[in-house]
Amino acid sequence: MDAARFLSCPEHSTRRQFLKTLSQGIGSAALAASAAPYVGRAALPDDETLGVALVGLGNYATGQLAPALQETTKCELTGIVTGTPSKAETWKKKYDIPEENVYNYETYDRIADNDNIDIIYVVLPNGMHAEYTIRAAEAGKHVLCEKPMATSVQECKDMIAACETAGVKLSVGYRLHFEPHHQRVMTLGQDEVFGPVTVMQNGFGFRIPDSATDEPHIEWRLNKEMAGGGALMDVGIYAIQGARYVTGEEPVAVTAQEYKTRPEVFSDVDETLFFQLEFPGGTVVDGSTTYNGSYNRLYATARDGWFEISPAYGYGGVEGRTHDGPMDFKSNVNQQARQMDAFAECIRHDRSPRVGGKEGLRDLEVIEAIYESIDAGNTRVEIG
Ligand code: NAD
Repeated sequence: MDAARFLSCPEHSTRRQFLKTLSQGIGSAALAASAAPYVGRAALPDDETLGVALVGLGNYATGQLAPALQETTKCELTGIVTGTPSKAETWKKKYDIPEENVYNYETYDRIADNDNIDIIYVVLPNGMHAEYTIRAAEAGKHVLCEKPMATSVQECKDMIAACETAGVKLSVGYRLHFEPHHQRVMTLGQDEVFGPVTVMQNGFGFRIPDSATDEPHIEWRLNKEMAGGGALMDVGIYAIQGARYVTGEEPVAVTAQEYKTRPEVFSDVDETLFFQLEFPGGTVVDGSTTYNGSYNRLYATARDGWFEISPAYGYGGVEGRTHDGPMDFKSNVNQQARQMDAFAECIRHDRSPRVGGKEGLRDLEVIEAIYESIDAGNTRVEIG
């Protein structure tokens, strides 16, 4: 029997309900210890997958996450949330999703009653992440939320608090933590394999053509309320992440500059930013981001050598090298499938996710400091 239909059949529902009750019973000791209800699924048999509902069926959900969910082995696509009935019909047919697992933004909270959905994956515009994550937690569901985690530090804190209160796990869609080249540079930097990293150059940008500004997936990206900011929130965040996971440290200060060559397009959000991050161990990072051109690179020089990933931040085609030669990893692994399976395993075994809410919060702290530096006339701003 096909998996989605299997999950929706009454016999299976009863079994899942039994397992949920069982795991909540097991959790009473954990509850006493942690003061949070336990909603892990340690009691699930090894061959049972966790159900994922995607919220927001836009470009990323359609082009990357749904296909990745066909490759996962620990979780599977069991539900969708969409405001567009025609999309619901297409997805139901394509992925065999039963009607009772299809929600819209009005019925969203009723997912609380659906035992075939364990994880809610929020893939909405950035300005909606906080609300839909908090509502997912209140529905008792574990949450994977896309990057940037939210549009402010305060929202991130509220999301973390809501998930802690509900006793559900929270992770942020930083897929590169599951990509071998990026895992390698984490080791090279943090273990000081070539000595301490002294200087990094990290940048990620792409060009938004004037002709594309009214396309739905670009329109919200140019709106501060929906996006939280411009290129920095969308892709510059990867340069910040890279700096943090290569050094394994949190930046202590930043100085930033902004340039706008098309102010009529970028009236509400940033177009091109440069920022210099200072780390406590002495590493200085030259970061940049833009919506006005294409670059995609992480480069680190250390006392006794160097390493880089270029192209660095895509879904595939990743290539890395050091002063010794090329890194010998596959350039294409399914980063999203790996991340979702790893999250499912954390839920099943009640472990902390590799990329928890605090990862998202720390990036927002840096982002807010970058905007503060620009607003204050490019002055040096201390972080934390
Ligand atoms: P998109 O515009 O293609 O999709 C957004 C979806 O939200 C659409 O289905 C849209 O209908 C829905 N939506 C619901 N209410 C909306 C509203 N009020 N306004 C606009 N859209 C609304 O965007 P996307 O590129 O899929 O990005 C979605 C999220 O995923 C963003 O947070 C983005 O940063 C993130 N993302 C992450 C990656 C990654 O590699 N991790 C890649 C792309 C996008």
